[in-house]
This record gives sequence, C-alpha cells and structure tokens, in this order.
Amino acid sequence: MKTITKSDAIKTITTHYIDGGLVESHGREIMDIVRPTDRRVIAQVTLGDEDDTRRAIAAAKRAFATYGTSKLEDRTEILRRLHRAASARIDDLTAAMVEEYGGVVRFARPIVESAVNAFAAAEKALPEIQWTRGWDKTTVTLEPVGVSGLITAWNANVLFLCLKFASAVAAGCTVVIKPSEMSPLQARILVEALHEAKLPNGLLNVVTGRGNTVGAELVRNPDVAKISFTGSVGVGESIMRDGAATMKRVTLELGGKSPTIVLDDANLEEAIPAALGMAFLNSGQACAAGTRLLVPSKRLDAVKRAIADAMSAFPVGDPADPKTAVGPMVSQKQFDRVQSYIRKGIEEGAEVLVGGEGHPQGLDAGYFVKPTVFVKVSNDMTIAREEIFGPVLSVIAFDSDEDAIRIANDSNYGLHAAVLGTDLSRARRVASQLRAGRVVINGMTDDPQAPWGGFKFSGVGREYGVYGISAFLETRAILEVA
Ligand code: NAD
Repeated sequence: MKTITKSDAIKTITTHYIDGGLVESHGREIMDIVRPTDRRVIAQVTLGDEDDTRRAIAAAKRAFATYGTSKLEDRTEILRRLHRAASARIDDLTAAMVEEYGGVVRFARPIVESAVNAFAAAEKALPEIQWTRGWDKTTVTLEPVGVSGLITAWNANVLFLCLKFASAVAAGCTVVIKPSEMSPLQARILVEALHEAKLPNGLLNVVTGRGNTVGAELVRNPDVAKISFTGSVGVGESIMRDGAATMKRVTLELGGKSPTIVLDDANLEEAIPAALGMAFLNSGQACAAGTRLLVPSKRLDAVKRAIADAMSAFPVGDPADPKTAVGPMVSQKQFDRVQSYIRKGIEEGAEVLVGGEGHPQGLDAGYFVKPTVFVKVSNDMTIAREEIFGPVLSVIAFDSDEDAIRIANDSNYGLHAAVLGTDLSRARRVASQLRAGRVVINGMTDDPQAPWGGFKFSGVGREYGVYGISAFLETRAILEVA
C-alpha cells in the first residue's frame, strides 16, 4: 500500500478501505483539509457516501460469519499483530496529529502511544472476562454483538479509533469505522499500519465521509448491530433516537464540563499548575478538560496570584515545538466558537484574569486563541454550564467541602473530575461523592484497564479494558430440559 509521509505537496485521498483493500470512492464530494497553524490546504479527500458505507457494511457482515465464532487464541494473536503494526507508525501518526489537527506534540505523542497500547490492553483484558459460566443444566456464554459502526471525533481521532477497534476485535466483532471527516490523514496512516497486521478481509473497514451520510447510514442500517460513538451531545442524542428504529446497542462518549476541586489544604504551588494543565489539556479541546476550577473563597486572592504566576508554563504557539502547551483550534468554526464564549463570559459579568478575545500576539495566521481564565464566575453562567472546547477556564469560589461537591455535581455533564489536596482521606471522601465516570486525585493520570465514560449527558456506557470489551458483547443462556 502506498504510504503517506510528511511533505509539502497537497496529499490526495480518493479511496476507502473495504474488505481488505483500498477501493475508489463512490461518493464524489471533495473536502479540503486545512492546516490550523496557517490555514493552508494540505490535503484533499474524496468523501464517501451511502453506497460506500453499504459496501463496507456488507464486507463486515460477510466477515462476521467467520470471525464472530473465532477462538480467543485467534483474537489474542490478531491483537498482538495489530499492536506490532500500529507501533511501527507512532512517529507518522504523531506528525499527522500535529499537522492536521494542530495537536501539541507534547500531548499528541502520548495520546498516539495510548492509542497503540489499546491493542495490548485489550489482549490483557481478554482472559479476565468470564466468557462462559454454567450451573445445573444452564450454560451462559458471552457472544459478539455483531457488525459494529465506530464513529469518532477529531480531537484525538487515532486514540478513539484504536480503543474502539481493539475492544471490538477482542469481543469477536467486525467493524465499519467512520473517522471524523476532519482527520482523514491520521485515519489513512492508521489504515496503512493496520493493513500490515494481515487481518481477515472485512474485519476492518474504514469509510471517511460526513456524519449525515456515512454516519447516518451506519446508524440506520439493519445489518449494523452496535454503534460506538465519540462526539458531541447533539449527535449522540440523534444516534440514540435514530438507532432505536433498528434497536441499536449504543456506546456514547460525549462532552464534559469537568470540575477540578482545590481543597483548602492544597499546596497552591503544585495544585494550580496541575489544574491549569488539566484545563488546557489538548489545547482545551479535550472532553475531559477540567474547565471549572473550584477554589475555597478564603484563598481566592492567593489562587489568582498562583494562576498569574503559573501561566508562563503554558505558552501558545507552534504545536510541533515540544515547549508549546497550547496549539491552535482545529478550525475557523472552533476558533469562532471559543471567541463567542469569551464574549459571553464578559457580557454575563465574569472578569478576565488572563487572556481574553482575539489572537495571541503574532499568531493571527492560524486559529490560535488566548488561553483565558475567568474569575468572578458563578456556576449558573453560560461559561460554567456549556462545553466550550477551547482553553477557557472558569474559576468558581466555594465555602466548604460540601459546597464544592454540590457545585461540582450541579452540571448536566459527569465525565471527569479532579480533587487536589494534602489530606488524602479527605480528598478520597470528596471524590467518592462526585457524579462523574472518572475522578482523579492530585493530578491527571490514566489506566487503560479503568473504565472511561460519563454520567448524565456525558454519555452511555464505558470504554477501556474489560468494560470496553463488554460493550461489544451479548449474553446468551442455553437451558436443557433433560
Ligand atoms: P461531532 O458530534 O460533531 O462529530 C463526531 C462524529 O460524529 C464525526 O465523525 C461526525 O462526522 C459524526 N456525525 C455527525 N453527525 C452525525 C450523524 N447525524 N450521524 C452519525 N454520525 C454523525 O463532534 P466533534 O465536533 O467531532 O467532537 C467534539 C465533541 O466530542 C465534544 O463535545 C467532545 O466533548 C466530544 N468528545 C467526547 C469524548 C469522550 O470520550 N467522552 C472524547 C472526545 C471528544
């Protein structure tokens, strides 16, 4: 397969990966891919349509007839090959995430490494699942749900693709992937890599296209049993609604407005840089970004000084420079969205402590915004309630631990949360009362076997490890009379 590498020439992609090979797109729409650092067109991709999608679903259905009954040893071996194949392209995947999306390299590389590691993590989780259990004349087995549609967002596309695909492979499912139409270069490098794993034809199919064509076909097609989706709440709601017609199983990984609680015994010199790191994670374009900073009212002045001091550790600029902490927004639309929320915050009476509207100085060629921290925010303001998906942090004061817990839980979202403090048992007590799918104590961390997913509007279901594989399984009981 012809490989994509870094060059100044405009790349073109006119094919999809169906039934073990690249096939020319039936869809004819051509989309420009714009580099967020300087708005230059770096690629043109021919988008797939419903015909391409149906062809991919048919290939996945044929493959499921065999792969759906595969042995665990075979799946283990395939996961190993996938891990090896993906590992060989970590550098290229990182470079594509930096160029195509504007992801800062200091975040992009670990994200790509986590993506690749998803295959090893799924292999490790496989034997922990109790595939069969029985008593008397009853036997219960876990069965792959069937052909699965995997639909992803642009902000860490490769991670979502690998996580979902690894879980599906472990469960015995075949897939049609619809990567974000804004991430075709990352998706294509991943396809090239995974092709080298010599998979059974039709196990992996990838059609790049728009949500309302390729995505909608996956959601409505009766031959697709399951949709695993990462993206916005609005699209998640439509998938749940439209998928009901064919009783789709759904996993929805949606948005967040995650609280970071700084307890009053926290060491601010450590807690504030950690909190800013979580707020500006992936340039703020992260579902888990800690965008509400809850601080004790009696320490507010000290917190403000600590924020002002710590901001120099979060420079904006070229995402390829390892020193850069905040890169550009992915698109003009995302730039405008962030600007409109900054304006809204000012209109509603919040005070800009750092940042504000417009481009940072000297960075107006791309979609760069100023990392912005608001103080005097109340939890009912728009900037405290809605997901902005940019480097905008709202500082909200609280009076007691109970007050902090109440404010943290007063949100439509419940994806991620953080508690920072010196007394660990107190931090644990607060963490145990937060309505969020993941709570970290004293800094951002990850565990590929720990479940990932949200309470409330942050989604339905869980990914990672055993939990992620289980999301692609059905339970069957066989009962004998004699
Ligand atoms: P989006 O919802 O606009 O798009 C996500 C995907 O859905 C894309 O591939 C898109 O083409 C597709 N899509 C759009 N309309 C569709 C339809 N009608 N049917 C089927 N598919 C359709 O989201 P986005 O802008 O790409 O990503 C940002 C959002 O994703 C944020 O809200 C963010 O919080 C969320 N997100 C969540 C997680 C998580 O793990 N919970 C991780 C990353 C991003």
